[in-house]
Parts: sequence; C-alpha cells; structure tokens
Amino acid sequence: MSNVRVAVVTGSNKGIGFSIVRALCQQFPGHVYLTARDPGRGQEAVKKLEEEGLHPFFHQLDIDDLQSIRALRVFLKEKYGGLDVLINNAGIAFKVNDTTPFAVQAEVTLKTNFFGTRNICTELLPLVKPYGRVVNVSSMVSQSALGKCSGELQQKFRSDTITEDELVELMTTFVEDAKKSVHEKKGWPNTAYGVSKIGVTVLSRIQARMLNEKRKGDHILLNACCPGWVRTDMAGPKAPKSPDEGAVTPVYLALLPSNADGPHGQFVSEKTVQTW
Ligand code: NAP
Repeated sequence: MSNVRVAVVTGSNKGIGFSIVRALCQQFPGHVYLTARDPGRGQEAVKKLEEEGLHPFFHQLDIDDLQSIRALRVFLKEKYGGLDVLINNAGIAFKVNDTTPFAVQAEVTLKTNFFGTRNICTELLPLVKPYGRVVNVSSMVSQSALGKCSGELQQKFRSDTITEDELVELMTTFVEDAKKSVHEKKGWPNTAYGVSKIGVTVLSRIQARMLNEKRKGDHILLNACCPGWVRTDMAGPKAPKSPDEGAVTPVYLALLPSNADGPHGQFVSEKTVQTW
C-alpha cells in the first residue's frame, strides 16, 4: 500500500475533526483515517459518514497515551510506509464556569492540547512523506493569550530561535506556577486553554523551522491554524460557524497543492496568514 496516499485526523469522532474527515473523504485522493480515543464513538462516527456514501477508515488513537500513538505509528509504517497528511485536531477545554481548581485545569489542558499534540508530532513527523502536509489546530485564543503574557514571555514565544526543549520547559513551568498560584505574578495569562494553544502555535513554528533545516528538499508544509468560532460540544450552540465551515481552513492547509511553497510555519485563520 506504500503508493496509496493516507491522511490521519486526530480527535475526529465529532466536532470539527469529524467535518475535516468528511471533507477529506470528498477531496483527498487516498485513504482517510477517522481516529478516536474511544473505539465505540469512532465506529459510530464512521457509520454516519458511510450513510453519506463516504468511506473513511478507522484507527484508535488517544493522544494522551504514548502506547496508542506508537501503535498507530507502527500501523502506518507497515501498511503505508508513512503518511501524507496529518491533522492534529484533538483538544479539550474546560467550560468558562467550570469550578475545577485552576491548577488542575492547567495540568489537564496542557497534558492533551500541548504535550499530547507534541507526542504525536514526535512519533509521526518522521513518517511524513515528501510533499506531506501537517496541520496543528490551534486557536485565535493563542494570539489573545500571547498579548496577555509579560513582555519577557512574549519575546520568548515570538522568538525565531526558541527550541522545542525550551518551549517544553516554559509549558512545564506554567503548570508548576499554576499549582503554586503564582502564574499571574510570573507573567502568565489566567487561561490554561490559551497557554496550551500558545504552545501549539509556537511548536508549529519550531517544527517548520526544523523541517527547513533537516528536510529542505522534501517540500513538507506544516502550519498552525484557527478554525474560527464553531458550534461544537466545546464551543457551544451560539458560535457562528457550522463544523463543516470550521473545517475549511484546516482542510485548505491539508490540501495545499504539491507546487505550493507556502504557507509554512505560519498561524493561519480564514485561509489567511496572521501576524504572530
Ligand atoms: P469537540 O467537539 O469537543 O471535539 C474534540 C475532539 O477531540 C473529540 O473527538 C474528542 O474525543 C477529541 N479528544 C479529546 N481528547 C482527546 C485525546 N486525548 N485523544 C484523542 N482525542 C481526543 O471540540 P471541537 O470544537 O471540534 O475542537 C476541535 C479542535 O479545534 C480543538 O483542538 C479545539 O481546541 C480547536 N478549536 C475549536 C474552536 C471552536 O470554536 N469549536 C475554536 C478554536 C479552536 P471524545 O469525543 O472522546 O472526547
């Protein structure tokens, strides 16, 4: 199957991820994998798309579980010799009125949105084939949260030389500062989701730089994006966009044509590169 193209979407049993799979099934010339941490919810979602005449494949994937990520890596390597499109969409957010202590929200949110996404990238990016496309679903909230960071933190997050290790250290420090209730005193914004998405956007900038350095001739394009404010279980019924509309920018980045030389290493919203 190494000549069959393959796309993987994380957290795609519902919401924006589900709509991304739907659009890829319609537009991507290859196998599309709907993944879910819960196989029951995943198979149910596959069935829904089959009823629409679409044919996604399914693989279990919990981005919080390294064994689950590695099982997917082995599967992709053995069956397809790698992968062509990776969309890191899985994410969580506590509701605004959730009374869970901030320290817990910080740890749990960062665990999935930043560390889980990073673990996927560590395991799967080496498998991405030439002309591959990688999309990390971040949020405009990453930009607004960046604006609320101290000047020193902003400088670090905007740096063109920050390393992945340095970013991991900063994200770890945020969780530790939150546990000691000193995060605001240390210049962090009071939003765990916002900091986790700063992590996703900055990680994408670093990964794109690494691809430039190590795999220049492979023409891989990697970006972070915001889907917009979308009606899903996460964002609620008042959001203006449908999940299919929320899928538009991630799918645009996933299907950038083979002769495109950008965007790459950018934060993209409404198909438009944003200033970071
Ligand atoms: P959603 O409806 O809550 O869907 C989130 C998906 O992620 C679900 O399939 C969920 O699976 C999955 N997920 C969560 N933790 C996971 C894990 N550890 N491993 C694998 N899958 C996991 O949310 P959404 O609105 O579609 O959000 C999708 C992405 O867009 C997120 O990254 C979110 O931060 C981002 N985003 C959303 C909006 C918005 O307005 N909706 C705006 C900006 C950015 P379960 O069903 O098992 O929980």
